[in-house]
This record gives sequence, C-alpha cells and structure tokens, in this order.
Amino acid sequence: MTTSASLPTGSEAAISTGGSVTDRLVEANEQYAAAFTDPGMDARPVLHVAVVACMDARLDLHAALGLELGDCHTIRNAGGVVTDDVIRSLTISQRKLGTRSVVLIHHTGCGLEAITEDFRTDLEMEVGQRPAWAVESFRDVDQDVRQSMQRVRTSPFLLHTDDVRGFVFDVRTGLLREIDAAQPPVEPS
Ligand SMILES: [Zn+2]
Repeated sequence: MTTSASLPTGSEAAISTGGSVTDRLVEANEQYAAAFTDPGMDARPVLHVAVVACMDARLDLHAALGLELGDCHTIRNAGGVVTDDVIRSLTISQRKLGTRSVVLIHHTGCGLEAITEDFRTDLEMEVGQRPAWAVESFRDVDQDVRQSMQRVRTSPFLLHTDDVRGFVFDVRTGLLREIDAAQPPVEPS
C-alpha cells in the first residue's frame, strides 16, 4: 500500500504548509464545533419541506431561501434531477420524517446543458464500460423543471404530491423564477 508521503500529516502541519482542501475543511469544522450548541432537535424538518436542487457551487440553498438549521431536507445532485435515488430520499423524507412539500430548483448556466447523452458513450470508449445511469442532460431548463415536477407527482411511493413546485435560480441575480407545471411541452417536429 502506498501512502501520500508528499502530504503532511495532521491539520497543524497542513495549515502551516497550505495543506489539502480537506485539511482546511476539517480546521473550519473545529471552529464551528467550538461555537456549536446542541439545538435539541430531532431529525424531522421543522418546515416539513424537502428541497431538491442542483449541486452547483453558486447555489447556497439556505441563504437563498432563508432557511435555518433543521428547517428542511436538502437533496442535491448534478442538475437537481429527479432520479430513482432522489425518489428514494423523498420517500424516506415523507414517510419516515414527516415532510409534505417538495421544492425543485434548477438554475441558469447549468453544466448539464453543456453535455449530451454522448457523455456515456465517451466514457465507454475511454474505460470500456458504459455507465448504467443516464446523464440526464437537457436543453431547455424550464422543460426539465416541468418533467422533474411530473416525476415527483407521479411517483407511487410518495404520500404527498399536492404541493410540488419548481423554480429556476438565476446565478447572476440570486432570484428564483417559478415554472408553471401546467404548460405543456413543445412537441418535437
Ligand atoms: Zn447545475
């Protein structure tokens, strides 16, 4: 077994030499924990809401939505796509932890608009194995929010599908724009 001999061990050494990004996070956590007091909450989100959003680094969900610790479940992946695993999390969120509302957030300038399903073929050519998952790339962010809402609303596993709303977050203005779920998709010609 090889070791990362070039990396210093221990956070102090890491800080003094610059360290890895993870060392920096661990140091920040020590400061966080020093000021932390047990909020005395259980695991059930206070606002009974689950937010499904893209993992994009420019989207600070808690700040953008005025959320506090303990308020909501946040479920994030590339694109904020409603995959089977997101349905898994929503199902547990609703059935075991009491959430009722679902908020979906995509955003402007998403990386998934810049790639296509060819990405899977490219991967297969490179590594000899095609991933089982879909890339879930999209061209029209509004339509992708609509189909994401539809996936949530039609899931047989969820208890509550009456309060599902979808938005596009503008990474330049910080504003949410709500997507009308009722607008039908444009038929391809
Ligand atoms: Zn994104």
